Amino acid sequence: MKILIAGGAGYIGSTIASACEDAGIIPVILDSLVTGRREFTSGRLFFEGDIRDGRLVDRVFAEHPDIEAVVHCAALIVVPDSVADPVGYYSANVVKSLEFVAHVLRNGCGRMLFSSSASIYRANDDLVVDEDSAIDPQSPYARTKAVCESMFADIAAAEPIRILSLRYFNPIGADPKMRTGLQLRRPSHALGRMIQAHEEGVAFPVTGTDYPTRDGSGIRDYVHVWDLAAAHVAALGAFDRLLPGTRGSMAINLGTGMGTTVFELLEAFNSVVGSPVEALRADRRPGDVAGAYTRSDRARRLLGWQPRYSIAQGIEHSLRWAAVRDEVLAPTAP
Ligand code: NAD
Repeated sequence: MKILIAGGAGYIGSTIASACEDAGIIPVILDSLVTGRREFTSGRLFFEGDIRDGRLVDRVFAEHPDIEAVVHCAALIVVPDSVADPVGYYSANVVKSLEFVAHVLRNGCGRMLFSSSASIYRANDDLVVDEDSAIDPQSPYARTKAVCESMFADIAAAEPIRILSLRYFNPIGADPKMRTGLQLRRPSHALGRMIQAHEEGVAFPVTGTDYPTRDGSGIRDYVHVWDLAAAHVAALGAFDRLLPGTRGSMAINLGTGMGTTVFELLEAFNSVVGSPVEALRADRRPGDVAGAYTRSDRARRLLGWQPRYSIAQGIEHSLRWAAVRDEVLAPTAP
């Protein structure tokens, strides 16, 4: 089987590419490298360019007419940036996705997996969500994901394409074989900032300590990026069974089902690193939310998927990646 991964030079897309290769699926990468890394495409079929570029997408399919499905990971993903630049984010994530799906349709490809996000949900007071929970995204970034899902559902109801939205919770870790990991040296999410605080020997700012959670810090469902990638392989295998016929859409949560607060993540981090990082209470950041974790068993039932890696293993792999990152990536990496 051959598939196209749009955004396959990024953190999650490149991990999906490795998981596919390990499973005997050939990935073709389409990526503009706006945030992705050329190093992550090395040894892979790679087309450099934008998903909105119809001529390029036509060329990809002309050269690889045996592509059976598209995995669409290409997006901008930084919540505070989306608050500062909503025009840029709607254009990059919504407008380009609309153009891309039109190019995919024109080339007769009828299967798409879409990288969606659990940040589209409004959590109830218990902070757990499933696929039927209310959709109420709290940032422009999250709204771009919700808009894309609705747009894709409309398109998949009318056109010969089936679209499966995979709603990721909070990815951590790296490829356990250290082929790829988070490309940024200074990631803005909690674990990345924890690693940075550890490296610099400074306290870790817990941004937001007045959320309605058990200790006031935000709660997340940390899922290992390799487990996420494995879910895509499972979804590709189950696709025609899940969405038979030529049209239709569906959403599946990809999380562990376990909520972890930022203070708890720091505790887990400290038990892995040995030399503890201190917590510093700080204000919320724009666009941040209390968070949620999944209670759904849809991924297990429909994909036969369940996460294999623990939070401690995710932390350990993130730390190992941080240590080798500069050898894998050119010194020009941000
Ligand atoms: P990333 O920035 O590492 O990867 C995105 C990739 O898409 C990059 O390689 C980038 O160069 C490419 N890209 C962006 N716009 C493009 C365009 N117009 N044309 C071609 N390539 C383009 O981010 P990631 O963490 O790997 O995220 C992948 C997907 O998963 C995104 O759609 C994101 O919304 C979704 N997601 C991520 C998280 C997370 O916490 N990382 C959580 C939920 C969902």
